[in-house]
Amino acid sequence: MTRLALIAHDDEKAEMIDLAETYESLLSTFDLVGTGTTGKRITEETGLSVERKESGPIGGDAQIAAEVAEDRLDGIIFLRDPLSAQPHEPDITALLRICDVHDTPLATTRTSAEYVLDGLAADREE
Ligand code: PGA
Repeated sequence: MTRLALIAHDDEKAEMIDLAETYESLLSTFDLVGTGTTGKRITEETGLSVERKESGPIGGDAQIAAEVAEDRLDGIIFLRDPLSAQPHEPDITALLRICDVHDTPLATTRTSAEYVLDGLAADREE
């Protein structure tokens, strides 16, 4: 089963909910994992269920990075706030780096997220 991680910074959480609603029928066929607050909001505000890791600032991004290192994830949607410094920037940088190392598709904007989702859907149909 396709396993996808979902992470959104606070300013991007509304965008993540909108994306999850738009792609709900596709996402319902995926195994979803998310950082704490993002996962909670998606679970509460859509019909999707998300395995919740810790909140980002207390280690959730590092937990998701560990899954990338173990080749457990097929993709990550990480809607980042490009305008505000985050307290857990080192963990975020580590997550981006490990995705590059493992060639794990990582989308950081709405449009690139849609491309990754369309690509994962196409992979599944092959
Ligand atoms: P959160 O973490 O979903 O718990 O808010 C996101 C993040 O990495 O900032």
